[in-house]
Amino acid sequence: MNQSFCVYNNVFQIGGSDISHPADCAVYLIDCGDLVLIDSGAGLSFDHLIKNIQTLGFNPEKLVAIIATHRHIDHIGALWQFREKYGVQIIAHELDTEGIEKGIRTAAQFYDIEYRPCQVDIELTGNNNMLKYGEYELNILHVPGHTAGGIAVYVDIGKRILFGQDIHGPYSLPGADKQKAKQSLQKLIDIQADILCEGHFGIYQPKEKVNEYINSYLGRL
Ligand SMILES: [Zn+2]
Ligand SMILES: [Zn+2]
Repeated sequence: MNQSFCVYNNVFQIGGSDISHPADCAVYLIDCGDLVLIDSGAGLSFDHLIKNIQTLGFNPEKLVAIIATHRHIDHIGALWQFREKYGVQIIAHELDTEGIEKGIRTAAQFYDIEYRPCQVDIELTGNNNMLKYGEYELNILHVPGHTAGGIAVYVDIGKRILFGQDIHGPYSLPGADKQKAKQSLQKLIDIQADILCEGHFGIYQPKEKVNEYINSYLGRL
């Protein structure tokens, strides 16, 4: 397993298939003073994620929120543990809340992992939301396609960093919508991010590489 690392400025990758557990999506940490996570991994690496947070010099007691980008288990499996142990607020789009709270269409069978449902504390609605933590404004875009309630997050901290989990799809699972995915991927290109933190396939920069990566999937839809 590889170590967690700094992506840029106060953004870190603390989990992923080669960092915390083979079933985990990429898990990112933003140090806004308080700590915010993008996704939680599949649920089998909670202790490892906490250790990685500590190894980077952070106190996990400062965790305040997890933005759950969509309802698939590799992203939401450990939400309940973070919420129960650290009182972390769970944030998700209303169109994927039933997945997180009731365990509907989480792809848990595909991963052969039992999903433990978790309450969502902040349900986002509509296309654009902004949440403020410390000095950081986290912009949240509704990007349906891979799932109905998928969201992407971007933050401007010297560079524009985009957390675009599962841009690669697949766009064929129940609940997926290729037409909506086309619009969503175009929306992600339009924000012209400098750095893309993807959900499974690493980190892309500079801007030209980010656009090239998103365009390559847009072209297949
Ligand atoms: Zn997914
Ligand atoms: Zn995923």
